[in-house]
Order: sequence, then structure tokens, then C-alpha cells
Amino acid sequence: MTHIAVLGSTNMDLVAYVAKAPQRGETVTGREFRTIPGGKGANQAVAAAHAGADVSLIGAVGADAFGTQLRSTLEHSGVDTGHLRTIEGPSGTAHIVVDDEGGNAIVVIPGANGTVTALAPGDEGLIAAADALLLQLEIPLDAVIAGAEAARRHGVRTILTPSPAQALPPQLLTSVDLLVPNEHEAAALTGVTDPREAAAALLDQVQEVVVTLGAAGCLYAARGAAPLAVPAPRVTAVDSTGAGDTFVGTLAVALGEGREMPEALAWASAAAALSVQRPGASSSMPYRSEIDAEAG
Ligand code: ADP
Repeated sequence: MTHIAVLGSTNMDLVAYVAKAPQRGETVTGREFRTIPGGKGANQAVAAAHAGADVSLIGAVGADAFGTQLRSTLEHSGVDTGHLRTIEGPSGTAHIVVDDEGGNAIVVIPGANGTVTALAPGDEGLIAAADALLLQLEIPLDAVIAGAEAARRHGVRTILTPSPAQALPPQLLTSVDLLVPNEHEAAALTGVTDPREAAAALLDQVQEVVVTLGAAGCLYAARGAAPLAVPAPRVTAVDSTGAGDTFVGTLAVALGEGREMPEALAWASAAAALSVQRPGASSSMPYRSEIDAEAG
């Protein structure tokens, strides 16, 4: 079985569904409210677990009702929470507005995630035993760097989702094998809006890059190879929250199983396309049999 370690955030998503998101100073009446377990770390962990991997999440939740619910939901999805600490104070929350076109706008309050500043005893052993380590930027950068360096020491493939976008220290990038920004993050990191040019610029710092392009699919670039564009299946999106996390979680599983990059990207694209057709983030993540059926 493929082992995936995820070091990252766990949030409760507080989601408002509305025809059109409010502008600054405007108040609108929405249609529906839901609390949905999320956070990029937890989402990637659930995506990988649904896709058939043995997954552990390293991070923290608060000692509140959200924390209890987040932990039990992860366990229900088959994610090992033995390395997920419970700390005093609130759990992380994400305040999300989803509009009728399936677009979203998000404010994240880190809460417990902000206390994850280093690896805890036992975390490095877990990372060492994994086929891949998944990282994002919703916990303090010091912990992300510590995780990437631990993975590098043990020869474990490290995949970084640079979200929310911020300047990445060279110390981190030298320990990352694969960088997976969406097109906005790729532009923010490079100052270049064209995804092909942004991917090429990022190859100065990392070996491999996948820029995700929403409904337009994704673009893979590696040093010394021609770029590869992978189209997304044509589907009707109802909620794109968590599409990128589904993509990365399932990509890690496919690569961990030893599949070649083009096949792994097609499989991840099938999984992400399934997820955008359902509301929510982790609740929308497809199971292995569904991904296999969609990928054909
Ligand atoms: P993020 O969720 O991080 O913003 P993207 O929006 O780029 O990332 O989506 C990640 C991946 O999800 C895309 O590369 C694509 O494979 C898939 N995806 C996203 N939106 C759609 C869509 N409307 N139709 C089909 N696939 C989609």
C-alpha cells in the first residue's frame, strides 16, 4: 500500500452559498450555510485516503467542538490522526463564499494551525516511512521547511502546494521535488501571468512543476523536457472548493504507486473533475473506484 504523509492545516470551513459574492461594503442574503471539515492539509489527506492510500496527517486542532469534529471526520475518512495534536485555543477556520457559478472567495483564520512551528517527536519517523510528503502553506513556514528537510534526508518525494501564495525561501525550494501552484499562485511567485512562462521560470528553483489551470486542465514542466499540457474532463462545476487539493492528493497516490507522470496527471485530473461536480471540499472527494471509472 502507498503511504502518504501530509504536514498541514485542518480547518472547519464555514461556507455561505450565495448567487453573487458581496462587494466591499455590500450585504447580500445567501441561500444556505454549511460547516464542512477542510483545511488544505486535511483535504489533501482525505483525497489521498479516498484514492486508496494509507495516510497520516501531521498538524494540530484546537480544544473546541470544531477540533473534536475535525478529528473524527478525518478518522472516518480513513486518515490516521495519531500525529494530529490537540492544543489549547480555537481550531482553524475558513470562511468561504461560494457563488452560483461555482467560484469561491476564502478567508482563513489559522487558530491551532498557527502553533505548528516544528516537527514533534515521531513526526520525522513517519515522514521517513512515507512514499511522499505533501506540504502546503497554511501552517508556519518553519514547520514546512522542517518537514521538507526531513523528507529530503530520507529520500522521500516532497510535493508542495504554494497556497496561500507567498515568497518561498530557497531553503524550502531546494528540498521540494514537485511544486503544484494554481495559475494565480504561479503568477504571484514569478510575476509572470502566462502559465507556460511561469512554469519555465519556476524550473530555475525546482525540478518539476505542475501549474493547475482550473477547467483548462494543467501544465507539467520538468527540467530538460518539453512541457506537457493535460486537458481536464469537460464537466459542469457546482463548487470548485478543494479541486486543487483533490488533484494533489490523488496525484501523490498515483506517483507513489510508481505510475508515470502523464498517467498520474490524467488520473488526478479525473479525480478533480469529479470533485468540482459536488458541493464542499473533503466531502466532494471521489473514491478510487469512481476515479478509475472516470479516468477510463
Ligand atoms: P485550485 O483549486 O487550487 O484553485 P484549480 O482551480 O486550478 O486549482 O483546479 C485544480 C484542478 O482541478 C485542475 O487542474 C483541473 O484538473 C481540475 N478542475 C478545476 N476546475 C475544473 C472544472 N471546472 N472542470 C474540470 N476540472 C476542473
